[in-house]
Amino acid sequence: MNAQNNESLPRLFLRSLPQIFRVSPRHFIIEYIFTFLDALMLVFTTLSLQDFFDRVTGLVGGNISLNSVLMSLALFALLKILDEAIDGVANFYGEFYAGKSGKKMMNLLNQKVDRLPAVQFENPDVLDQMNQAYRGAYDVRQLVHVFMDILCLYIPYFVFMGIYLYRIQSILLLILPLVFTPVLASHLLRSRYYTKLDDQTVTLRRKEEHYKECLTARPFFKETRALGASHFFLSRYTLTFKKIQQLRYQTDRKSQGVELVANTISLAGYIGILVLLISLLVQGRITVGAFSAVLTATLEMFNLMEEVFNSRLNELSATAGQIKKYFRFLDVPEQKYGSIHVEGKKALVLNHVSFTYPGASTPALVDVSFHQHPGETIAIVGENGSGKTTLSKLILGLYTPDEGQILLDGVSLADIVKDDLYKNFSCVFQNFQCYQLTLRHNVTISDFSNMHDSDDTQVWDALNAAGFHVNTEQMTQGLDTLISKEFAGTDLSRGEWQRLSIARAYYRPHQFIVLDEPTAAIDPFEEDRIYHDFMKLKKNHSAIIITHRLGAIKLADRVLLMKEGKLVGEGTHEILLLESPYYRTLWNAQSKYWQ
Ligand code: ADP
Repeated sequence: MNAQNNESLPRLFLRSLPQIFRVSPRHFIIEYIFTFLDALMLVFTTLSLQDFFDRVTGLVGGNISLNSVLMSLALFALLKILDEAIDGVANFYGEFYAGKSGKKMMNLLNQKVDRLPAVQFENPDVLDQMNQAYRGAYDVRQLVHVFMDILCLYIPYFVFMGIYLYRIQSILLLILPLVFTPVLASHLLRSRYYTKLDDQTVTLRRKEEHYKECLTARPFFKETRALGASHFFLSRYTLTFKKIQQLRYQTDRKSQGVELVANTISLAGYIGILVLLISLLVQGRITVGAFSAVLTATLEMFNLMEEVFNSRLNELSATAGQIKKYFRFLDVPEQKYGSIHVEGKKALVLNHVSFTYPGASTPALVDVSFHQHPGETIAIVGENGSGKTTLSKLILGLYTPDEGQILLDGVSLADIVKDDLYKNFSCVFQNFQCYQLTLRHNVTISDFSNMHDSDDTQVWDALNAAGFHVNTEQMTQGLDTLISKEFAGTDLSRGEWQRLSIARAYYRPHQFIVLDEPTAAIDPFEEDRIYHDFMKLKKNHSAIIITHRLGAIKLADRVLLMKEGKLVGEGTHEILLLESPYYRTLWNAQSKYWQ
């Protein structure tokens, strides 16, 4: 990772070029042919200017006719107009290409996110990189554009000008380093400052976004208000904002200091060039035309250098950190899949499975082993933090064990082909999602490939089984009612959203279902009915239910008892009550609320 962190802009350019070129090779080539023609036109106008001034001098000396001067002037004007037209075409293609590439880069990122192992979403470093990568995606085209302009416009122009100056007087070649060096040096320094700034502020910016969300986003603001925590978040937000501004201000100040020094040196260089040109003119080693053209061209070269380094490359330097993170993010190892197909997905075996979250000091799961027979229903119980949800994520193939193996129908999850890994699995997460979609899509999204051919009866069956009752006054458009306050639709209670998430899980074709506290937001009376219907619907499917509720525990064929990441007991509810003092304590602690 460090090697990539030191990746220079030219290296990043070489990496970005194929990506950007592939967006539309034809348009790319046309754009830079016109850019090269632009460089030629700049040189021709300088030559034409020299010619014009030499003729004017001739006219004053009586050696040349007025007609010849006017012809030269007309040629100069024509070249200028042509230059503008060529510049316009190159810019037009540039704008067009920028839009097209931005979209493509975003797409690449979205696809990358989809290929990440889910556990990376627990890794703050990767979250930072992802955040910056999205900001850097549009800058990738800009990087390529600036470098292509350097290759097709600035370098050809300076090479042609070098040849031109050398042919007039070799000593005039000195102009090039005088124009070049101070601007380049200042650029390199400033680029380093801004990369550092980016690294310093990335976590702060994510925090700032989170505090803002706590204040303004719908899922947060109610609780924030009710807790009276607005001031707290506001002050956190302001503090973080100030810290970012402070770091930015310090960097800007250093950068401007460097720019001031560089500009002073450039000015001294320009005066030196002027002195040199006057002395060559006085010695009769250059003509008046050459004097004027070189002087004008020197100004042009200064301007172009400024444009490349102080404007265009500096902009890139300010975003270089993000561009690097874009590529670093693309390099984050992706989820690996195997090549073995599995069909049924019913027999589950965990062999000495251990797992630690990225950055955590203690493992969430330690040496967990158990077998689940096809069709069996297992309830997993334990105190908060004992590892139940983590276990379910590993069984679902979202996280990979650090040690040990999880086998489905005798095949390790790591060896199963991608399409089979999640096929036949369904789940309800504890932190289920409330999609701002229609009622229908909130259910059918779990069978995405068939979403457009959804059968109303099946959708209603899933909703009914999950105990979701449609209020016809509220849901006037039935399955096509939009469930989203944000987009002017209707909203649901937490319990209704939970039922909807259960319906979604039922709707998905499955042989194996994992339910993580599926009824936490539903009242106990409704809950019993839901579990009853669940068992009817379940048929011969395997099921894992993470729960505290007696209703679910009693339905299970077997109960697994977790404590501090370890499996500390297993058996039926009755056996555990008899044999496990820990289970008895847990059970007694919570049963008093229900009996
Ligand atoms: P349970 O579902 O039994 O409440 P979890 O599986 O959620 O337990 O958590 C098990 C352990 O892993 C706990 O110590 C918890 O603090 C830790 N843990 C859970 N999620 C993360 C995470 N994203 N990063 C680091 N540690 C985590």
